[in-house]
Amino acid sequence: MSSLHNASVAELSAALAAGKVSSVELTRMFLDRIAGLNGELNAFITVDEARSLADARRADARRARGEGGPLAGIPLAHKDIFCTRGMLTTCGSKMLANFASPYDAHIVERFDQAGAVLLGKCNMDQFGMGSSSENSHFGPVRNPWDRRLVPGGSSGGSAAAVAARMAPAATGTDTGGSTRQPAALSGICGLRPTYGLVSRYGLIAFASSLDQAGPMAKSAADLALMMNVMAGFDPRDSTSLERPKEDYTRDLEPDLAGLRIGLPKEYFGEGIEPGVRGAVEEAVRWFETRGAALVALELPNTALAVPVYYVLAPAEASSNLARFDGVRYGHRAKDYDDLVDMYCRSRAEGFGAEVKRRILVGTFVLSHGYYDAYYLQAQKLRRLIARDFAEAFKRCDVILGPTAPTTAFAIGAKADDPVQMYLNDIFTIPAPLAGLPALSVPCGFDAKGLPVGLQLTGDCFSEARLLGVAHRYQQATDWHLRVPTETPL
Ligand code: GLN
Repeated sequence: MSSLHNASVAELSAALAAGKVSSVELTRMFLDRIAGLNGELNAFITVDEARSLADARRADARRARGEGGPLAGIPLAHKDIFCTRGMLTTCGSKMLANFASPYDAHIVERFDQAGAVLLGKCNMDQFGMGSSSENSHFGPVRNPWDRRLVPGGSSGGSAAAVAARMAPAATGTDTGGSTRQPAALSGICGLRPTYGLVSRYGLIAFASSLDQAGPMAKSAADLALMMNVMAGFDPRDSTSLERPKEDYTRDLEPDLAGLRIGLPKEYFGEGIEPGVRGAVEEAVRWFETRGAALVALELPNTALAVPVYYVLAPAEASSNLARFDGVRYGHRAKDYDDLVDMYCRSRAEGFGAEVKRRILVGTFVLSHGYYDAYYLQAQKLRRLIARDFAEAFKRCDVILGPTAPTTAFAIGAKADDPVQMYLNDIFTIPAPLAGLPALSVPCGFDAKGLPVGLQLTGDCFSEARLLGVAHRYQQATDWHLRVPTETPL
C-alpha cells in the first residue's frame, strides 16, 4: 500500500484487477491523504467519506462478479463545476454555496457507470473565471510544490489534488486553458478535447462556445483511459458531436520518425521565462533525436487571442450568468425592497469581483453601439485565428510550445492586475478559440524547482495522436513521476 498513492490510474487498475488491493482500501488511502493535506492545500470544497466508501464497496462487488471496465473502483475527483446529485455543486461561488443539484452532469454519470469512486468536489475559480484559483469563495488553492504559490486555474483544485496525490485523477473544464494551465503549473497532465467531443450537460456554463470538460492525471496514458469514459454523443447537449466511439488508448506508441512538429515563432518569442523556454526547447530536441521533423511556422494572429477571448468569453458569460437571479436557485439576499432590488442585491452579494468584471465587460461589448466594434470584430478575429491553425496543419501534425509563459506565481502577485493574469493564458487560449484539442505534459523544472508544462496542439479529433506522442515522451522522461517535495509521502 505504501507507494500506491503515486501509482497511475493504469497501475491501480491492474492492481484492482489482480486482486492485489480493493477499491475500499484505495479509497480509504486517498480519503486519508485528503484529510491530512486538504487543510493546507484547500484543493477540495466537499468530501463525503461515507458516499465514497459506498461507491467503493459497489465497485469491489462488481469486480468480484467479473464485471467492470478499467476504471471500476478507481477513486477520482470532479471539479465543482459539474453537477452531482446528492453532493453540493458550488462552482467555487457564494452564489451556489448551498446548491444541491437535482441531477448529475453527463460525465459524472459516465464515470459512475464505469464504476469510478467519487472522492469529492474540487476547488476552483468561481464559475471558471481565473488563472490562479484565487477567485474562489472558499479561499485560494495552494500549489503542492510550494504552498506560497498558486496552482494555476481555474481547475486549480483538481490539479493540486492530483499533484499532491490526494486523487489519482480528476476532471476539469477548459474554456481558455483551465485543464492545461493548472496542469502545467502543478506538474501534472491535462487535456482539452475537441469542442463537442465531451457533453456539456450538467457543466455549469461559463462561455458555451468554448467550454469543454477534460481529464487531468499524472500521465498521458491515464488521460486516454479517462477519455474513453468521458467522450461520446449526448443528445442533451445541442453541440455534442455524433461520432463513432473511439478508443483513445489505441495509438499510445506511435512511431515518432517523420512526425512533423510545428514550432510557431510566436510561441517562442518575448515574455517567456527562461526556465520555461529552456525546458520546452530541450523537449523539442528530444523529439528531434527520435526522428521528428521540425517545421518552422507562423501563427500571426496569436497576439490577438487574449483580447479576442476576453471579449467573447465575458459576452457569453454575461448571458449565461443571467440565470442567477435569486429567484429559482442560488443565493438570495435576505433584505430587499422590491423585485428589482432583490435581483440586484442577490447578484451583488453572490458574485465575486472577477465575475462582476466579466458581466460588466460582457454586457458592454454586446450593447447597442458597441456590438459591431467589439463583439462582431472579435468573432471575425476568432475566425482568422482558426484559419491560422488550418494553414499550419497543412504543414505539420502537431504544434508544440510552452503551455504557459511562466511557472507558478505567488498567491496575490497578479490578483490586482487582471491584464497580467489574463496574459498567463496567451498560449492556452488559441486552441479553444479554434475548437481544437490540446494537452499539457510536464517537461522539466525551472531554477526554482517549479514544474514546466509542454503543450501539444493538434487538429480536430487528433486526441489519440496527441496522447500517443505525449506517452512516447513520458516513456523516455520522468518529469511526470516527480513528486512535490512539500507533500509528505
Ligand atoms: N483563465 C481563463 C479565464 O479566466 C480560462 C478559464 C477557463 O478555462 N475556465 O477565463
